[in-house]
Amino acid sequence: MTAPRRGRGRPTVFDTPAQAAYLQAVLSGMRLGDAAAHIGVNRVVPARYARADREFGALLDEAKAVGAKVRVEGVPHDEYRYNVLKCRCEVCTRAARVGRAGRRTDTTADEPPGTETAGAVHPIRAEAAGVGESSTSFLLARAS
Ligand SMILES: [Zn+2]
Repeated sequence: MTAPRRGRGRPTVFDTPAQAAYLQAVLSGMRLGDAAAHIGVNRVVPARYARADREFGALLDEAKAVGAKVRVEGVPHDEYRYNVLKCRCEVCTRAARVGRAGRRTDTTADEPPGTETAGAVHPIRAEAAGVGESSTSFLLARAS
């Protein structure tokens, strides 16, 4: 009878329940080192096991991908997420637009509030100014 009694309460073997718990921890967004610590194994154990067991390795890759997404999902949808994480959902897109509009109004305080029309008005205004300028300089050129 040589039943392994050492390490009771903390798995010395990376058995099936430990694997499942580890994958679950990684899936939930835990970093690999934290996930290993969470189930009480050294962080090299799952990594070594993933190389030895291709099926587990594939599951771990999948869990890592989902976990990374979960970590990203933990970031609120806002301008930062739009700019840095390239999220193009409605919330982030709006937050980025509002953020840009807010900074634009800061520098051009004479503009009336109403970011909805600002985008449509701008090009017309720029064109009108351009035409006025060139026709004025044209007239000035003719006058001199
Ligand atoms: Zn978003």
